[in-house]
Amino acid sequence: MKSSAQVVVIGGGVVGASVLYHLTELGWTDVVLVERTELTAGSTWHAAGGMHTLNGDPNVAKLQQYTVGLYREIEQRSGQNCSIHMSGGLTLAGDRERMDWLRMAQARGRYLGMDMEIISAAEAKRMFPLLEEQYFIGALFDPAEGHVDPTGVTRAYAGCARQAGAEIYQHTWVSDLRQRPDGTWDVITDAGEIHAEHIVNAGGLWAREVGRMIGLELPVLAMEHMYLITEDMAEVAEHNAATGHELPMAMDFDGELYIRQEGGGMLLGTYEQACVPWSPRETPWTFDQQLLAPDLDRIAPSLEIAFKHYPALADAGIKKVINGPFTFAPDGNPLVGPVPGVRNCWMACAVMAGFSRGGGVGLTLARWMVDGDPGEDIWAMDVARFGNWASLAYTNAKVRESYSRRFRITFPNEELPAGRALHTTPVYDRLTARNAVWGASFGLEHPLWFQRPGEEPREDVTFRRSNAFPVVADECMMVRERVGLTECSNFAKYRVTGAGSADWLQGLFTNRLPRAGRINLTAALDPNGHIVGEFSVARVGTDDFFLFGSQIAEAHHSRWFLGHLADDVRFDVLGLSLVGLSLAGPGARDVLQSVTDASLATENYPFMTFRRIDVGMIPAYVGRMTYTGDLGYEIWVAPEYQRALFDLLWQAGQPHGIGLFGFRALMSLRMEKAFGTWAREYRPIYTPVQARMHRSLKLDHDFIGHAAVDAELARGPARTLGYFDITPDPAEPADVAGDEPIWHGGAVVSVRLRAGRARGARRDVRGGDHRPAPSGEVAPRAGARPGGPSHARLMGRP
Ligand SMILES: Cc1cc2nc3c(=O)[nH]c(=O)nc-3n(C[C@H](O)[C@H](O)[C@H](O)COP(=O)(O)OP(=O)(O)OC[C@H]3O[C@@H](n4cnc5c(N)ncnc54)[C@H](O)[C@@H]3O)c2cc1C
Repeated sequence: MKSSAQVVVIGGGVVGASVLYHLTELGWTDVVLVERTELTAGSTWHAAGGMHTLNGDPNVAKLQQYTVGLYREIEQRSGQNCSIHMSGGLTLAGDRERMDWLRMAQARGRYLGMDMEIISAAEAKRMFPLLEEQYFIGALFDPAEGHVDPTGVTRAYAGCARQAGAEIYQHTWVSDLRQRPDGTWDVITDAGEIHAEHIVNAGGLWAREVGRMIGLELPVLAMEHMYLITEDMAEVAEHNAATGHELPMAMDFDGELYIRQEGGGMLLGTYEQACVPWSPRETPWTFDQQLLAPDLDRIAPSLEIAFKHYPALADAGIKKVINGPFTFAPDGNPLVGPVPGVRNCWMACAVMAGFSRGGGVGLTLARWMVDGDPGEDIWAMDVARFGNWASLAYTNAKVRESYSRRFRITFPNEELPAGRALHTTPVYDRLTARNAVWGASFGLEHPLWFQRPGEEPREDVTFRRSNAFPVVADECMMVRERVGLTECSNFAKYRVTGAGSADWLQGLFTNRLPRAGRINLTAALDPNGHIVGEFSVARVGTDDFFLFGSQIAEAHHSRWFLGHLADDVRFDVLGLSLVGLSLAGPGARDVLQSVTDASLATENYPFMTFRRIDVGMIPAYVGRMTYTGDLGYEIWVAPEYQRALFDLLWQAGQPHGIGLFGFRALMSLRMEKAFGTWAREYRPIYTPVQARMHRSLKLDHDFIGHAAVDAELARGPARTLGYFDITPDPAEPADVAGDEPIWHGGAVVSVRLRAGRARGARRDVRGGDHRPAPSGEVAPRAGARPGGPSHARLMGRP
């Protein structure tokens, strides 16, 4: 065994093998994989090997597409048979909502060049004669689906990696991980120690235990999962003889099951509602290529539907029942990337669909390690999308929800209930009493909108306009015409202090730093010029700054800042130690002025001012800016003052017709001013030039990514952010929800990015405080009215 290596990959399942292969592909060949027993010994060996590209998130779909396309190549190069069956796949819909979902998935797939086709139930029956047509109204056919041999694929990855110089040590258990002061690792195994620059946790069923070796509690949980294989069936033989090919795979939303041909019989798996976590606290190291006891009673409801939808199955004998464990993260997506706050430590775990996603996970992680950039928008898989709040119990609740909803639609406006309410701010009860409809983001509850008095605070989930639409439109009008109050605690807040803070931030940010008492907007870039984040920077002293950013990216951004930290700088994540309320609308100044002695007149408190003042008796930092773009203020206080602040502003606002507004109205209002936001317009695959962040770009100082910006400005951007009005069908209005393709001249040219769903009313605002400005307090664009066209931002060719 080597005593040192550039990378040690821990775990020889399909994911670890894929990471190893991709590292060698990118030129890192001093890499080893350590496997405690034999390759595939975790959840890989007993997988059903099904693979598909279809995914509601186009970024994940793209990586699945890459994975499926890789198998022929690794088979040829390694000489290892992967038993690739490209049978094609049907996703069957039994009702209108599921057809809507299929249309959405097909549309999103188009800009990835995915060749999927919506077909009738009758056509589905022709392709898959086992089904009863009456239970379906249509289907999506994807030719790029099929199944592989899990062991063959894992060995093929390993074989290719070995050919390139990688080494694999089987029957070698990593028992401990110790980091040296220089950030390198001592990997302690039962066969000796390896000194490694980087470690990768691809421990699958034991990823949590590997994490604990370095004090991490990863949000990962294994679930039991069952599938059964029937005896050979005459119907299958007939189809094979008549068509010369095997039956396609089928995913059946209603039955929550998947079904495919296996030899001369059928393989049937289900994501049952009565799902069961496996080893909820600790995975035993003694578990080794074992299966769990089958429990057919647990999947009986799904089997009942299966026998109804595919009657031939009811008469087929069961040859084998497989029950095995595999891992999930709370939202069902993998955990990939560098662990925040731990140098040279990488994750590739919680991959619940290793044969659809394993290749993409390996590719992006290897690029991230080798190039410093995953090369794709992998936000949905970033290990940093969870914070410390994702405890063992939270993970358990969310994973059970995620497993049981595997075949359920999550609507664009849907908020899932498990693991809530976990994080709340002090005004939670006050807002609940005023009929708030709550959403959760990064674990924190935040008000989405406020239902009318006397009506139930609940939103219909739909692809179309929900019952929230007219109420949110009213909230927008209220902000436009009077004054609105909302909670803004769901920003990420950071404080940067220390003698070197100004120099440090200036080297990270594209904009010049503001003067003391002022705020400005800025971007941070990676060396390739891609957007890492976008922040409001408020300066309260020479070397004292508050940063405000996107809350969902709090761990992601902290990782970036801490990864670049200078010795003479202190960087603190403020979390809920600083909470906020925001006033917005033409009456905002009058309301706030009535409760503070500080003069808020424009000459004393101009737009983009940030100061410490007293609001009533409450010590607060007050920034004159709003994300709605209206005259307004963000008022930041310690949590113990938030209730008093709310009561004070609410009371003071009564003569001005104050009302509450939520996140939906905020997203709509900001969209009208073309204010971008993280994970929507601003994504790590775009540059500030493409995203039109020119006002935040000042090229007179050095910052990370400067050279890349210069080069792009010289050659011109390959694509730019655009802004469109979309007129929905008046008979059945549905607003764009995100990632829809844009057609031009009969071809898909681009994709519409996620955005606020409900659109606000608008009016032309003249005079007063409203004037064109770099950001904030701007007149909205002409166009949108309730029931009229909706706004969308698009990233397209210029
Ligand atoms: C019944 C069933 C059916 C499935 N069907 C499908 C399907 O059709 N399609 C699909 O895409 N997915 C399917 N899956 C899921 C699939 O099995 C997983 O996504 C995949 O196996 C995950 O691979 P992995 O490499 O992350 O983890 P694992 O396969 O668990 O591999 C982890 C490896 O790490 C090793 N290891 C852990 N800790 C250490 C240590 N400290 N030292 C050394 N080695 C260590 C383990 O021994 C193990 O071999 C199914 C799962 C089940 C249970």
